[in-house]
Amino acid sequence: MSQPQLSDLYDALVVGAGAAGLYAALCLPRHYRVGLISKDALALSASDWAQGGIAAAIAPEDSPELHIHDTLQAGAGLCDREAVEFLVCQASQCIESLVDLGVEFDRHGTQLALTLEAAHSRRRVLHAADTTGRAVVSILGERVLQCPHITTIPAAFALSLWLHPYTGACQGVSVAYQGQIRWIRARAVILATGGGGQVFAQTTNPALSTGDGVAIAYRAGALLRDLEFFQFHPTALTKTGAPHFLISEAVRGEGAHLVDAQGRRFAFDYHPQGELAPRDVVSRAIFSHLQATAAPHVWLDLRPIPRETIQKRFPNILQVCQHWGIDIFSEPISVAPAAHYWMGGIATDLQSRTSIPGLYAVGETASTGVHGANRLASNSLLECIVFGAQLAHLELLPVLDEGTTQQKVEVMLEALPAPEQLEAIATSLKALMWQSAGICRSAEVLQAAIAELSELQQEFEQLPSTQFFQNLQPGTLVQFPFPECDRTLRLWGETWNLLEIGQLILKSAVFRQESRGGHYRSDFSQTSTTWQTHTLIQNDRWWQSVPIPD
Ligand SMILES: Cc1cc2nc3c(=O)[nH]c(=O)nc-3n(C[C@H](O)[C@H](O)[C@H](O)COP(=O)(O)OP(=O)(O)OC[C@H]3O[C@@H](n4cnc5c(N)ncnc54)[C@H](O)[C@@H]3O)c2cc1C
Repeated sequence: MSQPQLSDLYDALVVGAGAAGLYAALCLPRHYRVGLISKDALALSASDWAQGGIAAAIAPEDSPELHIHDTLQAGAGLCDREAVEFLVCQASQCIESLVDLGVEFDRHGTQLALTLEAAHSRRRVLHAADTTGRAVVSILGERVLQCPHITTIPAAFALSLWLHPYTGACQGVSVAYQGQIRWIRARAVILATGGGGQVFAQTTNPALSTGDGVAIAYRAGALLRDLEFFQFHPTALTKTGAPHFLISEAVRGEGAHLVDAQGRRFAFDYHPQGELAPRDVVSRAIFSHLQATAAPHVWLDLRPIPRETIQKRFPNILQVCQHWGIDIFSEPISVAPAAHYWMGGIATDLQSRTSIPGLYAVGETASTGVHGANRLASNSLLECIVFGAQLAHLELLPVLDEGTTQQKVEVMLEALPAPEQLEAIATSLKALMWQSAGICRSAEVLQAAIAELSELQQEFEQLPSTQFFQNLQPGTLVQFPFPECDRTLRLWGETWNLLEIGQLILKSAVFRQESRGGHYRSDFSQTSTTWQTHTLIQNDRWWQSVPIPD
């Protein structure tokens, strides 16, 4: 099949084809010429892996006020109330829109079925068995492909933003595609590149979650926010050789027990809600318990859940566990925490605008203010849809310098770094981040990690052509002798981005001298009112926002 052509100019260019990017592309005005690029095939994204569901207060016994309350509680004082109200109040309309597009959520009779998840006070999580994300993005992908005004370009890797030299506005991106680096002009760029879980050795995120959007926005001088807040999911499959497959919270909502090697429900030692306490509490409970007992994992026992419920609600978990030799009807699953969701990101407003004119961010790469210090389960798919929908109101910047031609530079294959060199740096980084900025942090360990990471950055900068790519002048068209160079260049770009976000997370974690939500400091183990502020980052500057009202 012939590969799609990447044009030199779009009205709006969406980078990322998860729930946020797909929905944003669908909502953009239809008279715009829209490009949608993704570094993998359209079907690959973290959104596709989302299991539990999408939250919306639609039950008669529920209300937006309760959903707002639960979200603010989980966010531990750092949510922006206005953003939370916006999210929750748009939820039912967005669910209707998804249903109209053809998304088939589970139903009880004619009513949409709702389940309970941790820290939700009501049953409000819509689901499609335990593959909700796939049910959503497969339909969104189909609808996007039916739109003649949207061109989808898979296997295109966005390397950097292209800012106008005089106005500072975003006027496009550089993209590695089919053996070239090209500069693509767009009157609006929408980053929807997802999370950054791959910066940690243990993560539930897919390989593509390398924090590219945050890294490239940071280099362009965008305002970032709250990067120290990472959610560690308590229950990822922990078995030699198996990936850290997420065992959804919904199984605990349906009655599964978290137990230790003696079969004791130890989570109640740490919080009165036991295994249904907020995620950070359960993750830390497991972490502390593992440290105290020197065990490699704890157990998640699904046997209290009726067999038919497991078969109907969790077919994917059932199948994956079977694949790894675990019969969940007769034995518990070995689990431990893993990095799962990045609350921090590129600071955006209610219209998904960043601090750079012409640059927008949606989905996990954005920091809209709805998650605060800790995300309420199933609010992130909702955030992708609600904030993606705001692109319907996007107004384009005027095009300047449209006639600039690209200057061609030939680069020889020998000049690229070897993939093994890049992989070795990334592996060291991930181990370092897991040990130093995982569930439990301290200034001493974080400072040592910052120094070690700087050495990895220096090693990276010595690799062939790295300085050339890092300092590529806008408009320079780089031609590689073979299209296969794309793979290496993507790996190079992802490694650069992982190093960047690793350093940003470490510095943000040192900066915040308290514990709150997804950020726990053993040397500042209490929450402090003087830190009821966002961490703001721009270029080399870290500072606290004005206090966030209760
Ligand atoms: C296992 C798992 C289960 C989850 N379960 C739930 C759940 O039940 N409910 C819930 O609300 N949330 C859940 N989440 C979180 C939720 O899935 C994500 O927060 C959300 O899907 C992120 O969507 P996104 O569109 O922002 O990014 P993604 O879905 O990750 O999409 C990112 C896109 O950006 C592209 N991209 C990235 N970098 C580049 C680049 N440099 N150039 C070009 N393209 C690029 C990728 O190719 C991809 O298309 C879960 C997450 C995981 C990992």
